[in-house]
Amino acid sequence: MRSSMKVNWRSIKWARNSYAALYAACEQSGITLHETDHPSDDITCYSLNSVDEPHYRDEIADADCITIVGGPHASACPAEVASYADYVVVGEGEFTLPALIRRIEQGDGELPSGVCSGAVCRPVTHQVFLPAYLPFTRVKGTIEISRGCPYRCAYCQTPCLFGNRMRHRTIDGIVRAAEHYRDVRFVTPNALAYGSDGVHPRLDRVEALLRALQGHRIFFGTFPSEVRPEWITDASLELITTYASNTKLHFGAQSGTDRVLRLLKRGHTAEDVIHAVERCHDHGITPIVDYIFGFPFETDEDQYATIDQIREVTRYGKIHAHYFTPLPGTPLAGTTPRDVLPDIQHILGNLALHGKATGSWIEAEIRFFNRNENQ
Ligand code: SF4
Repeated sequence: MRSSMKVNWRSIKWARNSYAALYAACEQSGITLHETDHPSDDITCYSLNSVDEPHYRDEIADADCITIVGGPHASACPAEVASYADYVVVGEGEFTLPALIRRIEQGDGELPSGVCSGAVCRPVTHQVFLPAYLPFTRVKGTIEISRGCPYRCAYCQTPCLFGNRMRHRTIDGIVRAAEHYRDVRFVTPNALAYGSDGVHPRLDRVEALLRALQGHRIFFGTFPSEVRPEWITDASLELITTYASNTKLHFGAQSGTDRVLRLLKRGHTAEDVIHAVERCHDHGITPIVDYIFGFPFETDEDQYATIDQIREVTRYGKIHAHYFTPLPGTPLAGTTPRDVLPDIQHILGNLALHGKATGSWIEAEIRFFNRNENQ
């Protein structure tokens, strides 16, 4: 049944992939999400991260239409967002958004699970079965192959939005989506974890996926996805060099000290990072390694130790550095970032001048808008 209301999607660059996925999910329910650059018509939907959110708050509060807000920030702070939006979608939207739009059309009935409105909040009671939804249809996006992450890194909103159980699209479904592209790139918290529980590698399934995609130029473990350092082994690198076209591999180190990594609950050691960098080098792959400076519990010694590791990493690869943002809904929400020492800033600046470092270790927002320079 076609929707009797005109439903819009507020165009936001960061949320393009969410638009693609939710356009496809709504289409299955007979609802078209029209793209718009301002709130209008009957309903306008938003997906907001915590950096974008302040830019759209007044627009949503002043909108003359019904507003629905989802995404990482809405999932982390539903009550706050419900104070200015009509409806808040918590968690995954594929099932919840069409159900909510139908409920608004009908004008009565219970809110679907995972929706807040005013003071009423219905808890999330489901997780999306990924193969039941296309990653995109008319609105093209990057192919999301896996969702959910069993790790609980203290600064990360991903488990808050998608949960700790890793789920995967089928190989057939991925191959069908890839037919729209010559170059294929993926969205996943850890590309090498495809087909696994996210903790125990299933490289046989990774190989089956890569084999099924032959005929495309495959970019595996590069932006917008990445991998974890302890998953980088001779065997996993052989798969990448055999089947994929990328000459770089993107992974997170975040800190050069085991003390900070433990506090972050990263689930790997500083030595794992160096080992991964060396393995990459041996296989002719350039490692691109993420670091975050400014954790509240980081000491001067931790910052210097991280720089020591960065010097090692940049012998063979490059780094992408961020300044810590205490995101809502994470264990580090509400904490105060510490300053990056002036001589650490100076060293990072020099590395940037020599093409070995990108990112921003002073201005947190740039990290969200400038992630694709290392592809
Ligand atoms: S940073 Fe990566 S590994 Fe850690 S919880 Fe987030 S998605 Fe998972």
